[in-house]
Amino acid sequence: MKRKIRGLYIAKIFGIPITLDYSWFIIFGLIAWSLSGGYFADLLPGVQGPVHWVMGIGAALLLFLSILFHEMAHALIARSKGIPIRGITLHVFGGVAEMKQEVDDPKSELKMAAAGPATSIAIGLFFGLLTVLSGSIFLKAMFGYLFYINIVLAVFNLIPGFPLDGGRILRAILWIYTGDMYQSTRWATLAGRAISYLFMAYGFVLMLSGVLFGGIWLVFIGFFLLHAAESSFRLLMLKRGLTGMNVEQLMIRNVNTVSPDLIVQNLVEDHMLRQRHHSFPVLENGNPVGIVTLHDVKRIPKQEWLSKSVRDIMTPLNPDITICTKCELSEAFVKTASNGIGRLLVLDETNRFAGYISFRDLETLVTLKLREA
Ligand SMILES: [Zn+2]
Repeated sequence: MKRKIRGLYIAKIFGIPITLDYSWFIIFGLIAWSLSGGYFADLLPGVQGPVHWVMGIGAALLLFLSILFHEMAHALIARSKGIPIRGITLHVFGGVAEMKQEVDDPKSELKMAAAGPATSIAIGLFFGLLTVLSGSIFLKAMFGYLFYINIVLAVFNLIPGFPLDGGRILRAILWIYTGDMYQSTRWATLAGRAISYLFMAYGFVLMLSGVLFGGIWLVFIGFFLLHAAESSFRLLMLKRGLTGMNVEQLMIRNVNTVSPDLIVQNLVEDHMLRQRHHSFPVLENGNPVGIVTLHDVKRIPKQEWLSKSVRDIMTPLNPDITICTKCELSEAFVKTASNGIGRLLVLDETNRFAGYISFRDLETLVTLKLREA
């Protein structure tokens, strides 16, 4: 599946594509600024401003390199366990190694989750050693900061709440003992939620006692953790709800289709308004060639409705808008949620049009299934 990459592609390391999310630039600027204007300026007050800036930018770069190593460790262990890696993205909260599937045995999960914090500790100790060995006060200050921040990163990631590394470790251990992946994830998620509430509560206490910035920061981390815990759990439930069913079982077979040569004006009047549908599969001599939606119509000025045809405005056939009849529903779910159309053309073994499937239908099915459970 081709994926749209949001952000700046940097390079491939060990065959894994590295991308910088645009939010990364903001956080990089903030870190470099607070390090040079605050941390290093306080530590070495007798030095010129530009020196602080060089140190701030240098330390921020090394910090992001440290985070990249942390994610790389997760990714390399995952790949060695046979899980394909889509890439690593560095963003505002650090980084994420994107895997094409979840691990299915707890021992691999344990090794994979532990690899990140272990790497951060190793990097921290390496910078600690450099701090002791280096003769220059500038390098000492920079390496000292990197020692500290890598240990903080390791400790933060070891918080035992899913989906943090510590939560994954907790889940893997529970999973080894109980043999039940679903229950273990539920417990690890509950731990994650409890910890996020603790963060928020402590943050409020700090705010009330006058430590405003530290308090807000803790509340913010708490919110972030809570959101992460709930959304990863929901994703797991979705996958569970859809496992074992294929596209053929849910797709709509008798769907109204349109020709690519249809004039937009007629598409709107005879199809969209009359049939109350917002999207149509486009077929030419029985072969699928694209999807056209109300959104495509809205993109062009009304004067062009008579001069343009469906072919001019539709999304042409591509892997993001198609799926096979025998494919898993969970794959259809991921595709409909991310392709910007919310629908897929279902193709049979000979690549002929077999049906239509929508995100709405998948969502309804999941809701019903979860209610049964
Ligand atoms: Zn990690």
